[in-house]
Amino acid sequence: MNGIIFDIKKFAIHDGPGIRTTVFFKGCSLDCWWCHNPEGRKLETETVSVKPGGDASDSRIPARTEVIGRDVSVASVMEEILKDVIFYDQSGGGVTFSGGEPMMQPEFLIELLQLCKENSLNTAVDTSGYASWDDFEKIYNLIDLFLYDLKLMDDESHIKYTGVSNELILENLARLSSMGSKVEPRIPLIPGITDTEENLEAIAEFLTPRKNIRQVVLLPYNRLGEDKSRKFDLTYKAGQLSVQSGDELENKVEIFRSHGYGVRIGG
Ligand code: SF4
Repeated sequence: MNGIIFDIKKFAIHDGPGIRTTVFFKGCSLDCWWCHNPEGRKLETETVSVKPGGDASDSRIPARTEVIGRDVSVASVMEEILKDVIFYDQSGGGVTFSGGEPMMQPEFLIELLQLCKENSLNTAVDTSGYASWDDFEKIYNLIDLFLYDLKLMDDESHIKYTGVSNELILENLARLSSMGSKVEPRIPLIPGITDTEENLEAIAEFLTPRKNIRQVVLLPYNRLGEDKSRKFDLTYKAGQLSVQSGDELENKVEIFRSHGYGVRIGG
């Protein structure tokens, strides 16, 4: 079994507990205005034109081409993962499958998860939640932690800013939670889009009945997606946004604390 990935990051510390290896799958059905991994969106390897200075629009810099993504076997990915078992054991870490959207390649993901479990490795999946329940049902008992993105509660806004409805995403989260899966909601704070008081209050209220979800992760805005889009000459639909100040972040944390949640900032 082969799949397409665009990176394997060693010694990751923001993608779940402990020291982890994060495998980035290619392919995502969403089209978020602020996408932080634009090179992970297409479910195929792609050749892009990049400029070493990071600005594709700067005509003074000569462009070079770069291939993003590689076709890899389950065995070769496992070989990489197993090299760092000692660090997972010492730190309470493990393996995280991220992307793009790992659920876009369900069979490849299942084989990797099964082998991780055969090797007693802790597993996490970083997902947008936009996948069929049939696929979640096949994998949920192989996953120790879902890092589950929640973006916008208002469906019209969700469609506008991500290209898809949030209905399936919210339904899948509710089902996973009711089946006892450990779910950590991760909320990207996009200035004026997802970080409004109204949206964060609505997320807190949606989570309230899910009694096994007591912690959320807030992801402050950063310019990574903007910089990468410039590098790869892609349109960054969110435009130029300002990073939140410490006080602004504290107000957003308080919204969740007032509903009884533990809050972590960053991954
Ligand atoms: S879900 Fe993630 S990878 Fe997909 S478009 Fe949105 S930010 Fe990008």
